[in-house]
Amino acid sequence: MDAITQSRTSTGTDVHRLTADDALRTFGPGDRGLASSQVAELLARHGPNVLREQARRPLVLVFAAEFTSPMAILLWVGGLVALLAGIVELGIAIVVVNVVNGVFGFWQEYRAERATEELKKLLSGHVTVVRDGEVREIPTQDLVPGDLLVVAEGDRIGADARLVEASDLQIDQSALSGESRAVHKDAGPVAEDLPAAQLHNMVFAGTSVMNGDGRAVVTATGMATEFGRIADLTQSVREEPSPLQKELGRLTRQLSVLALGLGALFVVVAVVFVGEPWARAFVFGLGMVVAFIPEGLLPTVTLSLAMAVQRMARRHALVKKLSSVETLGCTTVICSDKTGTLTQNEMTVTDLWVPGVWYAVDGRGYAPEGMIHRQDPVATGSTTGTATTTDDRATVGPAGAAPQDTAAPLASTAPQDATATTDPALRTLLEAAGLCNNSAVRPPAPDESRWTVHGDPTEACLLVVAAKAGLDPEALQRERPRLRELAFDSRRKRMTTIHQADGRRLAYVKGAPQCVPPQCSWIVRDGVRREMTEADRAEITAVNDGFARRGLRVLAVAVRTVDVVADPATYTVDEVERELTFLGLVAMEDPPREGIAEAVATCHRASIRIIMITGDYGLTAESIARSIGVVRGADVRVVSGTELARMSEEDLVEALRGELIFARVAPEQKFRVVATLQSMGEIVAVTGDGVNDAPALKRADIGIAMGRTGTDVSKEAADMILTDDHFASIVTAIDEGRGVYDNIRKFLTYILTSNMAEAAPSAVFLVSRGVVPLPLTVMQILTIDLGTDLLPALGLGTERPESDVMDRPPRPRSQRLMDRRVLGLAFGWYGLLEAVFALVGYLVVNVANGWPAVPFAADGELYARATTMTLAAIIFCQIGAVLGCRTTSVSLWTIGIFSNRRIVWGIVAEIVLLAALSYVPLLQGVFGTAPLLLADWAALAVLPVAMVLLDEVRRGYVRHQGRVAEREAPAVAPRPR
Ligand code: ADP
Ligand code: MG
Repeated sequence: MDAITQSRTSTGTDVHRLTADDALRTFGPGDRGLASSQVAELLARHGPNVLREQARRPLVLVFAAEFTSPMAILLWVGGLVALLAGIVELGIAIVVVNVVNGVFGFWQEYRAERATEELKKLLSGHVTVVRDGEVREIPTQDLVPGDLLVVAEGDRIGADARLVEASDLQIDQSALSGESRAVHKDAGPVAEDLPAAQLHNMVFAGTSVMNGDGRAVVTATGMATEFGRIADLTQSVREEPSPLQKELGRLTRQLSVLALGLGALFVVVAVVFVGEPWARAFVFGLGMVVAFIPEGLLPTVTLSLAMAVQRMARRHALVKKLSSVETLGCTTVICSDKTGTLTQNEMTVTDLWVPGVWYAVDGRGYAPEGMIHRQDPVATGSTTGTATTTDDRATVGPAGAAPQDTAAPLASTAPQDATATTDPALRTLLEAAGLCNNSAVRPPAPDESRWTVHGDPTEACLLVVAAKAGLDPEALQRERPRLRELAFDSRRKRMTTIHQADGRRLAYVKGAPQCVPPQCSWIVRDGVRREMTEADRAEITAVNDGFARRGLRVLAVAVRTVDVVADPATYTVDEVERELTFLGLVAMEDPPREGIAEAVATCHRASIRIIMITGDYGLTAESIARSIGVVRGADVRVVSGTELARMSEEDLVEALRGELIFARVAPEQKFRVVATLQSMGEIVAVTGDGVNDAPALKRADIGIAMGRTGTDVSKEAADMILTDDHFASIVTAIDEGRGVYDNIRKFLTYILTSNMAEAAPSAVFLVSRGVVPLPLTVMQILTIDLGTDLLPALGLGTERPESDVMDRPPRPRSQRLMDRRVLGLAFGWYGLLEAVFALVGYLVVNVANGWPAVPFAADGELYARATTMTLAAIIFCQIGAVLGCRTTSVSLWTIGIFSNRRIVWGIVAEIVLLAALSYVPLLQGVFGTAPLLLADWAALAVLPVAMVLLDEVRRGYVRHQGRVAEREAPAVAPRPR
């Protein structure tokens, strides 16, 4: 690619030719990073680290588009025809209506766009840098050349940078070079001038870290980066319309064709059978067409989706595409991680075990306050028998070593306080745990009370327990400097650091208790190092299972002396992580998140399944899953990663029908679970945080990344990001997603309703062959459709989700927006009632005048009064309809008649508009209206009340039917697909 040129910094020197140390000195202010005082100046010189914004569609064009849509053109033509036919007032009115409608549409689109822009800001990322000698998170846009960037697995690289440190670094450069294979990077100098993408000591903006970690000095930011140079090419992707938007487009077209057909029919019938003059018939037909085309549908729906997205953002769920909102509403299965999503990811070590001795730890949270008590092994043993009821695995190995229940032994034994000094084995275990560690624990800020952690809580709690034992992990790190890290990855589930300890080099290994002991050949027991036996392994398993059954997360820790002479960079996993010496187990508690049981229960009520997929151990997973209600049945199947790998597709499908948990699975395996669920017809939401979760996140119908702990790669692959990492936020989002869809249907019902009421008078006119003059003039029809209906309809789009949306099963994805229910309600119920009331209004005025003795008034004051009554009746009935449309089955009293402020204001506005039409002389002339009398208003006021009451009766009946259906249904009804 031509755009990728050789790497030069802004100073013009080839940074890739230097050694890492020189690069660090020349381009960065050493390993303490930039000083804050330098940053402002650099930022001013180089500008913020952002890509130039793609030129947005100029607002004028967006505005103009509103006036050139097919429907707008139709109106222009109509206006022109009216003017040419000499009906000047109508012509002008149509033009005005067109302008108002266009401005309104523009306003809606503008607001929707603004909402989306806001969201993009929330989505912009952060990077880790060293500044003032401290590791810090800063917004990506604040990066400046010279910054010392810290990158780790899953990070998106924020700027072009020269590596000064790298361990096992693999970079996905596909954004830059199109090559999908991850490339190896290191910090060594490159003597040649190669194309940028081939420089193995440079990392580039827009690429991401697939493995390993490193540090790099920023050489270029913003548009000066390699990515910036090609960005112009890639920025032109436009967002696809969502399925819902597409369906609405289709619907609008269909309804428009229908409207045109009806309009044409009207003209023909009016001319041929009633003998109307062509021009009048045509203009009227045109008015009907305009009224029937649901022009406001698409912008209103876009706006209500955008507003839902905004609401969801406030409730910790950032949706990246509008279309995800609707998919959320169809979700049938959530595949969720355990750690951090269902649990707090706030770890506290509660138990420690070195071969033969069990310790319990006091204190919760990250404050290093609490004692470590040695538990009498005999006392422990005595509880084993009682606590173990169903599972005989617990008694494998020396029973005396399997702790079952903390409370009992703590009470039954006189605990001996232990510090690291009293037991060398404990000391070694905690030293190893403290050194094989990338986290930091920070004391509370002056105005706070909580200790906080930086990094992985699984590691941070190890520092805390080391401190509780009287060790100082920081001092230890200085004493035994780290030479190398073999980073944790979720496949081998281990992590190793290699340290210089006096004349020796020690490799400390920690990881899952199924993944470390197999690599151990030695064990230290009672101060003696000896070869590990099968009995030792069985004992470790038994102790681990005991912890796991209490829902604890367990890590195994081991150590090994490694080759002193080797270059630290050459150590490999295979070479180091073998023939280890087992040191002990660390068990930590990770309490379920607050409100999690309620969220899980809500999912179950809403017929949404939850499948836990975790890298953690089966017993731990099951214990947590049970405690929060994710699984409830007696025979829950726990499928491990190895088992899953061996399973045939049919077996997996079969297993997925029942209650199950996936444990000790690699993130890659999530993809298969998701794909299989989808093949079973499920709509799958899946959570993930690591780089390896990306395929599953992309495959899922809704990929959900974690905002706090998730990697950039996972966030990019996801459709939704949880800013609080909380499972409950998924449930909230589904609730909103269902609500929005409901609202769109409500909105649709409402706008179709008035069409029926508008068409009925014309039908009467045609059927009576003109004996009944048009009870509603074309101007009046337009008034309703493009005037009074607008605001209340908009209010419906913002209706809060009904209280029972989560008591229903998910909507099948195949469900059409405009189905029989919507049509039935709009035309067969609200529309019919309105038509009747409107014609009654029309009749009443004529009857008062002496009809049927006197024929219907066809013009003059009386005709104006009669049509004004028809118009007013429809408007007042629409008040009843808009209230009725607010709820599907719940009573209007329950949700509160006036609880939607927008609707209330919409109603007020339409009454004011009606009053203006009826009393302002100028408008009277244009719209053919006449002043309403006080008695008229009184009669009109009855209409919405009547509508609402009738509707309540209908809803009561619907609820009753629903209950009957429920009673008659089998106990476990199969979910509708
Ligand atoms: P999950 O977060 O679902 O528990 P992970 O893939 O993060 O899954 O972790 C899998 C297992 O790897 C954990 O159960 C634990 O035993 C081990 N593990 C997790 N984090 C670390 C770490 N920092 N160092 C060593 N082992 C770890
Ligand atoms: Mg994890």
